Amino acid sequence: MPLPCRHSNLLSLRTVKRALVCAILLSMPIRSAVLSPSRRGIAAPIDDLPRVRTALDWFAANLKWINSLQIQWTEIPAPSFHEEKRAAAVKEVLAAEGLLVRTDKIGNVIGELRGSNEKEAILVTAHLDTVFPEGADVKVRQEGERLVAPGISDNGTGLAALAAIARAIHAAGIQPQRTIVFAANVGEEGEGNLRGMRALVDAYHEKLRAVVVLDGSGVDHVTTKALASKRLEVVITGPGGHSWSDFGMVNPINALVRGSVRFITTKVPTTPRTTFNLGQIEGGTSVNSIPHEAKLKIDLRSESEEEITRLENALRECIAAGAKDEMDNARDRSRGQLDWKVELIGSRPGGELPPDSALLASLRAADDSVGNHSRIERSSTDANIPLSLGIEAIAIGAGGNGGGAHSLQEWFEPAGRELGLKRALLTILGVAGVAAEKGN
Ligand SMILES: [Zn+2]
Repeated sequence: MPLPCRHSNLLSLRTVKRALVCAILLSMPIRSAVLSPSRRGIAAPIDDLPRVRTALDWFAANLKWINSLQIQWTEIPAPSFHEEKRAAAVKEVLAAEGLLVRTDKIGNVIGELRGSNEKEAILVTAHLDTVFPEGADVKVRQEGERLVAPGISDNGTGLAALAAIARAIHAAGIQPQRTIVFAANVGEEGEGNLRGMRALVDAYHEKLRAVVVLDGSGVDHVTTKALASKRLEVVITGPGGHSWSDFGMVNPINALVRGSVRFITTKVPTTPRTTFNLGQIEGGTSVNSIPHEAKLKIDLRSESEEEITRLENALRECIAAGAKDEMDNARDRSRGQLDWKVELIGSRPGGELPPDSALLASLRAADDSVGNHSRIERSSTDANIPLSLGIEAIAIGAGGNGGGAHSLQEWFEPAGRELGLKRALLTILGVAGVAAEKGN
C-alpha cells in the first residue's frame, strides 16, 4: 500500500477515535471537580472526600512497607522476556489488596478494582522488566539516604507505587466509578518492544478511557508526547571465500559499508528533532576470509512519524544501492551474488495527548493539590501505545528522587516520596471518579 495514503487513513481514524473518546468523556458525569484546573466555586473536589483523604494519609504512615517492597522486588532479577519471578512476587501483594488478580498469557500481572460503572476502565501500569541481563548483581546497597542497585528506580519505584496506590485505595474503602485496572507489565525495555502494554491495550481497548504509566522516580515531569522510534536490522550475505585466491568476488562487508556511507549522509531535520544511530555491526570470521555475512542494527527516532518513515525508506534504498554497487564492481561475478534484507526488529509508534484532555486536567489538578509543578515531556514509554491509538495516556515518575537509570550505579532516594504517590493517586481518582460514599 502506498505510504501517503496509509498515513492519511491512519490520521483520520485517529481523529475520529479521539473525537469519540472526547464525546464519551464529555457525556460522563465524573464527580471529580479535580478535573477543573480552577477549582473555585465547584462542590467537593476529590481531595476533599473523606475516604480520599484517608487514602492520601495512608502513604506517610506506611513508607517503611513501601520502601521494603521496592528493595525486595528490585532484588529479584527481571530482564525483559524473563520477568516471571518478579511477576509472581508482585501478584502475591496485589492479590492481598482486594483486587481480582490474574496473569495473562504473556506474563502481565493484572489486578482489577471494579468500579460502579464496569463498562469503563482506567489502566494504571508499572513495567516489571529491567535492561540488566540475568546474572547482574541486583543486591540493593544502602549508602546514606540512598538505595543503590540496577533497576532500583527504573522501575522499582513504579512497581512499589503501583502496589502502594492499590493498597491505599483498598485501606480507605474507596470504590471508583470506572474500574481501575492495576497492571505490572512485561516487555517495556529494549527489544521487549512494549509487548506488555500492547497486550493490555488490546485486552481493554473498548473500555479504556485513560492510561497512567508509573515509570521511574521524581515528580518534575509528565510525559504526554510519545517519541516514535524504529529499530532495524540489515543482513547481507554472500558466498564467502579466501582473501587472496577468491579476490574479486562480492563481499557483504564491502556492501554494508557502501550502503552505510550512503545512508549516514542522509539529511535529518533539527525540527522536528530526528536522529539515527548505527548501533551494532558484526560479520566476518577472520581477517583473511571474504565474509559470508555482515549485519548492522540501526535505531531511528523522530518527533514526526513521517520523518521516521522517510529515514526507513532511505535506509532501505541505501542498502540496496550499496549491495548493487558491490555486485557491479565485483571483478569475478561467476562466484555468486549478494542477498540482503532490512528487517524491522522494533517499532514504537508516536502520538500526543491533546492539551485539553481530561487526563492532563486531572494531573494538573493533582499537581495543584500537592503543591507541585511539572513540565511536559516527550519520551519513549509504555504510553506510546495508547497515545498512538488516540487513547488518553501519560507517563509520570512515582516520587522520591532517582538517577543513573540503566547503569549499575542506579540509585533512589525515598525521602519525600509520598508527594509523588499522592500526585499519582489524585490523578488516577480524578479520571476514574469516586463512587458515592455511604455513611460518611
Ligand atoms: Zn522504565
